[in-house]
Amino acid sequence: MIEIDNDDNNTHKQFHNIKVLMYHKIIDEGKSSQSHWTSVGREEFRKHLMLLDRWGFTPITFRDYLLFIKGQISLPKRPVILTFDDGYEEVFKIAFPMLKDMGWNAVVFVIGDSKIKIDLWNNKLLTGNPSLLNSDQIKEMHEAGFEIGSHSMTHLYLPNEPYSNAWYEIAWSKDELELLIGSSIQSFSYPYGAVNNYLKKMVKIAGYNIGCGVYTGPPKFGQDILDIRRITIPGGNGALNFALKMLTPYEYYEYAGSKVLHRKNGNSNTTEIKHSSKDKQKQAELI
Ligand SMILES: [Zn+2]
Repeated sequence: MIEIDNDDNNTHKQFHNIKVLMYHKIIDEGKSSQSHWTSVGREEFRKHLMLLDRWGFTPITFRDYLLFIKGQISLPKRPVILTFDDGYEEVFKIAFPMLKDMGWNAVVFVIGDSKIKIDLWNNKLLTGNPSLLNSDQIKEMHEAGFEIGSHSMTHLYLPNEPYSNAWYEIAWSKDELELLIGSSIQSFSYPYGAVNNYLKKMVKIAGYNIGCGVYTGPPKFGQDILDIRRITIPGGNGALNFALKMLTPYEYYEYAGSKVLHRKNGNSNTTEIKHSSKDKQKQAELI
């Protein structure tokens, strides 16, 4: 078990500049104009990979990072972590072969309930194919060296759930996916990026070593590995925007911006999601 270190003075400072990118869906071009922001076109994604290669980045997984902090492996000079949320079928059909061709891998966060075949949480917004990865596709990606992480059992907004449901979503999905791939699941991605201290604690107790948020968590990678800030990569944003995100300390600007925004709104806490008093009571029970 990795020691969770929330202290700034840890020993891995040289790798705190690992950026973690968040993709969802990769689609065939032509469909992108009808689609949600989470859809990145095939050629656009190819361009991202070419640029990452040109800039000297090498994708790693959270598993690699955990082995690195245990001293078991070294990391490439310029590591980056590519993540895909929700587990759309196109990740297997489009992104997986492209990444494999480059000898690269990624982290794919999938739903634990294999009976769910389409994205029930998003299909009002997405006009494209809502199909999710099937069990064989998940296994094939795992066997090819991709990291499979959990994105809960059914993609609920966890801060609104009673703790027994949240526990089921977090812990049960880990068991289900471990049974499927025959290997341990180390990482969890909070549905909707919705995280709070209570959920972080659950994720830790369930045995995960990594938790991924979106706009939450400190900008410095490794400072809070149960709430990792990710950089969203929406479709149609162009190479210049991608360069800004990859080649500048973009996540720090975004963090500073959100701090200012929260201060203006009279709230200095950027990571806590509001709870009802009932939830607070349940949170207290867990901790
Ligand atoms: Zn999601």
